[in-house]
Amino acid sequence: MRLAVLKERRAAEARVAATPETVKKLIALGLTVAVEAGAGDTAAIPDAEFAAAGAEIAPDAAAALAGAGIVFAVQLPLPEQLALVPRGALLVATVGALNDASIVPALAQQGIDAAAMELLPRITRAQSMDVLSSQANLSGYRAVIEAAAAFERGFAMMMTAAGTVPPARVFVLGAGVAGLQAIATARRLGAIVSATDVRAAAKEEIKSLGASFIGVEDEETAAAQTAGGYAKEMSEAYRQKQAELMASTVAKNDIIICTALVMGHKAPTLVNQAMVDSMRPGSIIVDLASDAGGNCVATVPGQLIVTPNGVKVLGWNNWPARIPVAASVLYAKNLLTFLTTFWDKDAKAPKLPEGDDIVKGVLLTRGGAVVHPQFVPSQAA
Ligand code: NAD
Repeated sequence: MRLAVLKERRAAEARVAATPETVKKLIALGLTVAVEAGAGDTAAIPDAEFAAAGAEIAPDAAAALAGAGIVFAVQLPLPEQLALVPRGALLVATVGALNDASIVPALAQQGIDAAAMELLPRITRAQSMDVLSSQANLSGYRAVIEAAAAFERGFAMMMTAAGTVPPARVFVLGAGVAGLQAIATARRLGAIVSATDVRAAAKEEIKSLGASFIGVEDEETAAAQTAGGYAKEMSEAYRQKQAELMASTVAKNDIIICTALVMGHKAPTLVNQAMVDSMRPGSIIVDLASDAGGNCVATVPGQLIVTPNGVKVLGWNNWPARIPVAASVLYAKNLLTFLTTFWDKDAKAPKLPEGDDIVKGVLLTRGGAVVHPQFVPSQAA
């Protein structure tokens, strides 16, 4: 069976869905691997390294996809590439199925069996194939590194003969995978770190990393986590209490790292204009939630802006793609693990059992039909 690895074409994308290391392992499964020319260029993997690992370098998407039974991609391929995917092929990618209602029916109509890796259940067995975790972890790290580079004061406290540079104060909004890595990274750089979250479990995790917890704790936060581990959308009354607490906290900090997301919804707005206005000139806001609408009202998706009071707001899209080499290595490994887990050694083909929790979580379409409970027309809300 042939597996195609496509060159990503969406804006701000720099990652690739395979590496020479994973190509070797895919070949060992019995696959032939075709990598579209230039697929690894932005992730520091030249075609020659893919070729040395045993991949065929295909001159374009059409050549890579011809006869493919499996397609690996980072994001959903553009319609013109999808049109080249053979009927019956398995597409494994971060599909963005919840972002656009037309995607899943279109995949079914084209006869593509699509596994949406962003819908993977957050269970222990799935951890090693969890693309959201591997990419969010790197985003959280990168957010702090970019904040440190943009911050024109010091991060760590430095006591010198010429005087003392105070430590930066960093406030992290949302303490999921990205937020916890942001806390750990900011602490390593010497900042004084605090963080907030609505899920009750996050408080201990924040404290265990040496940051202080700042948050509203009430009966709503006790039930703020869904069965899947995600945060719920909070009530208006909660949002008001949270905003009051945030208003006094934001003004005291130099750097705000925004990571709060609510699966399947627009990101919550946590930093309002008055809070931005209250920050000192030279302060930094990094909005990792910008792809989902942003946590800060001043965020301009895809841009770095400086507010009239001198606050830099980094609203870049696609944060994992800002650290593309490491992100590709982990993403490619996640996809390899997924395929290996569901690999029929005798048939040398993927086997996705209908009753498996991971398969039920990710598989959108099969044999031309929508199979995912969240998207089957009669069952979808
Ligand atoms: P996420 O990216 O969906 O959200 C980021 C954080 O924002 C979350 O911690 C969330 O609670 C927080 N948030 C949402 N609304 C907020 C608000 N109004 N104010 C403040 N914070 C807000 O989260 P994630 O990083 O994908 O993690 C989701 C869950 O999955 C967590 O419970 C995490 O522990 C769990 N998880 C489990 C596994 C596993 O067991 N395999 C792996 C990774 C993550």
